[in-house]
Amino acid sequence: MADNVGNADARPDLELEEEFGDERPTIDEQEMADAEKGCGQAAIGIPMGHPAGVPMTGGHPGGHPGATQRHGGARSMGFRPGGGEAAAAYEARTGIKAPRIIAWEITRSCNLSCAHCRAAAEFGHYHGELTLDEIKSNIDDIVTITNPIIILTGGEPLMRPDIWEIVDYAHEKGAMPVIGTNATLITDEIAAKMAEHKIPRISVSVDFPTAAEHDAFRGQVGCFDLTIEGIKIAKRHGVGVQINMTVTTMNADRMEEMHTLAESLGVDAFHIFMLVPTGRGEDLLDKELPPEEYEKVLEWAYERQKTSPLHFKPTDAPHYYRIIRQKAKAEGKKVTREEYGLDAMTRGCLGGITFCFISHVGDLQPCGYFDMQLGNVKEQPFSQIWTESKVFNELRDYSLLKGKCGVCEYKAVCGGCRARALSVTGDYLAEEPYCVYVPASMRSDCGE
Ligand code: SF4
Ligand code: SF4
Repeated sequence: MADNVGNADARPDLELEEEFGDERPTIDEQEMADAEKGCGQAAIGIPMGHPAGVPMTGGHPGGHPGATQRHGGARSMGFRPGGGEAAAAYEARTGIKAPRIIAWEITRSCNLSCAHCRAAAEFGHYHGELTLDEIKSNIDDIVTITNPIIILTGGEPLMRPDIWEIVDYAHEKGAMPVIGTNATLITDEIAAKMAEHKIPRISVSVDFPTAAEHDAFRGQVGCFDLTIEGIKIAKRHGVGVQINMTVTTMNADRMEEMHTLAESLGVDAFHIFMLVPTGRGEDLLDKELPPEEYEKVLEWAYERQKTSPLHFKPTDAPHYYRIIRQKAKAEGKKVTREEYGLDAMTRGCLGGITFCFISHVGDLQPCGYFDMQLGNVKEQPFSQIWTESKVFNELRDYSLLKGKCGVCEYKAVCGGCRARALSVTGDYLAEEPYCVYVPASMRSDCGE
């Protein structure tokens, strides 16, 4: 798949817990205060309705459900990514945050050929993939600076015969492996292995609520049924499941039906991904939602999660963290951890901040969609690239952001999608091309 279509995995989505991080949120108090201040307005000219006209629900009886939703993930096992001694020592020594989630494309080989695959993965062997020994020595290096969640992804990671050795080694070294899969290969035997090897959660991409639409999108007849069956089998074996939906113009009006499907399957989380058209997804450029529609989907997500029993998270949609603050302000609320759970503690784009991606041949990138290799772990230790890369360090310095992102009061909690900026403008620090918001300092109607 490169599930999610090739990407669920490639981006900081599975196990958002990273940022609950307890005492060490990604954004600091001043940054939160700046974002809270804002200008008190919703995005310019965007009505706050559901994209499909579904009435918005009322408030969650117990406040925002972020802190109380089901998780079924690493955190529910008491795991604190980046919360160990190595990470604390690294951060004290370098002043750089340790990575908390690493998406690792352990193979590019895949049994499907999805239209929006980041990796443009296909069946067959890919030359130069990291060997088991190379993976182990890279894990040895990673754990010198952090104890991350490692999302084993692909391609289809279950195609790799030594996946269980990788899983065991990651556990042994204090990391937490999870799996991003298309689920079509999950049998009782595989699900039993997931449980036996302590995989807390898998993420599975489902993009449409019906087999005909999903199969057409994925280019494979029968794949919807196999995926749904794989989800059910995993759940039967006690493995947590997160459904990832990549939103395009083709399915933006099916959000509610997709949520119903996720709920009916009894999964733990429903994460919507905004298409980042790189890899095979470039062919879907014309299917990318226009910014105004994109905004409406995120507003739907904000309202829907108030009553959803599922852990809910828009991914690769950094402006969601701006929308949360705008909506909360309009509702007279503060975005606190008590009220908003993880959403209060994290920021939109985490690429290079606390997240990164390792490709099947060992190239290190801020995320799977950020089409720039910042080093290769066969040639240089991961920890060295994470620490010294000029690009990583520039991504961590929000004062370098350009255009309206550079002057935006939400830049610390949002930051814009750097991969999209890179792909559209060639400059990863340029303003996010898919944001309708006009920062307060650029508006005449805001007296701040
Ligand atoms: S202008 Fe940039 S930083 Fe501000 S909300 Fe939009 S994408 Fe985010
Ligand atoms: S650059 Fe874009 S796709 Fe990558 S992690 Fe950031 S928001 Fe997600």
